[in-house]
Amino acid sequence: PEGRETREWIEKDRRYVWHHIQPYVASRDPMVVVKGDGAWVEDLEGNRYLDAMSGLWCVNLGYSQKALAEAAYQQLLEMPYFPLTQSHLPAIRLSEKLNEWLGGDYRVFYSNSGSEANEVAFKIARQYHAQRGEPTRWKILSRYRAYHGNSAGALAATGQAQRKYRYEPLAPGFVHVPPPYCYRCPFGQTHGACGIECASAIEQVINWEEPKTVAAVIMEPTITGGGVIAPPPEYLGRVREICDKYGVLLIIDEVICGFGRSGRRFGHQNYGVQPDIVTMAKGITSAYLPLSATAVREELFEAFKEDEPYAHFRHVNTFGGNATACALAVKTLELMDEREYVKRAEELGERLREALEPLAAHPNVGDLRFFGFMAGIELVADKATKEPAPSNFVGKVIAGCKRRGVIIGKNSDTVPQFNNVLTIAPPFVVTDEEVRLIAAVLGEALEEAS
Ligand code: PLP
Repeated sequence: PEGRETREWIEKDRRYVWHHIQPYVASRDPMVVVKGDGAWVEDLEGNRYLDAMSGLWCVNLGYSQKALAEAAYQQLLEMPYFPLTQSHLPAIRLSEKLNEWLGGDYRVFYSNSGSEANEVAFKIARQYHAQRGEPTRWKILSRYRAYHGNSAGALAATGQAQRKYRYEPLAPGFVHVPPPYCYRCPFGQTHGACGIECASAIEQVINWEEPKTVAAVIMEPTITGGGVIAPPPEYLGRVREICDKYGVLLIIDEVICGFGRSGRRFGHQNYGVQPDIVTMAKGITSAYLPLSATAVREELFEAFKEDEPYAHFRHVNTFGGNATACALAVKTLELMDEREYVKRAEELGERLREALEPLAAHPNVGDLRFFGFMAGIELVADKATKEPAPSNFVGKVIAGCKRRGVIIGKNSDTVPQFNNVLTIAPPFVVTDEEVRLIAAVLGEALEEAS
């Protein structure tokens, strides 16, 4: 586009559009994206960027999958929408496919966003216990540093104080436990000799809270937006045992880790546990349309079948399970199967690890963390003290990458000074060479900022 026109769009954006989560900075122009191709996006001025964050960890199959657009178009022509108070073929197909992917027997409830999927999970968990004669089980345990969404319950479950500041009080009944964060172990321990105290702490908190009041524990397989914090390998299995011991449901938030990002179909499959409830969004449609799902073990659904006026799940949303979004999701999963994107994500995770590992020697890189095809690079001011790198340093590295044509992200955490983890989670369509490019650019930007 012509320069003048470009300026006009930017001025209009600055006048009318309220951007998500970003502070308003009068001098900062937004990046207005007009095109996407594979892992690359192009802005109004014609600058091209490799999107190493897949948007918000979601455009897993990249920006130009025609088959997805066609699946949506066909469904729009055939039958765009009908409420899921009844049913439609795309929802039936998708539910069957998700069962295949989950490798279990799950009943699926659809919404539009990850936040809603988690809200649904909390309501189902509480009602399940109530229906089985334990109405006092209503508390939900979650972890500090985790993000579970923006709505009252999902934000209450979120363990990042800065996201909640000025919006509290939110919802009662949410209790937090420390994360399995080996680099800064909340218990001052070292993995190998720690007895997984981070998991035992969950048992302790359940006891302190009184087990009869605890409905569920929610966690991601690996904390993602909170700084790519992968737990010790034995952690999730231990959490499953604790949940079983106390009759507490285990909700696994697969909003980011699901759909191949972890190198398996779902993140929890890396740890051999079966969740009671699985929540998903983002990659379910590769973000081409909004859709989310809450998959509930069929045994739990039994409790909702009783012949009593309040026994069923009294929850509806107009758009949840939109037929077009479901058809697009079915196509997303079919493409992933046909083209073996999950296997490719696993391989790409290895390539990313190899490419980034040399950066571990950099004086400002405190910790490098990986889970499937994602990485977290924790920046420090001092390797010995682990003092977090200041936010202007982190900002400079991100800006340096962008100037060189690569978009990377950063975590959000409990308090702003711990927003010091760079994040990388590219689409699965990148080449090995593009993975090396991301690492090379990051290396240059780090040097420049130091
Ligand atoms: N859960 C996790 C782990 C997330 O990362 C997010 C969003 O980033 C959500 C839930 C909320 O999803 P949404 O933004 O679609 O509401």
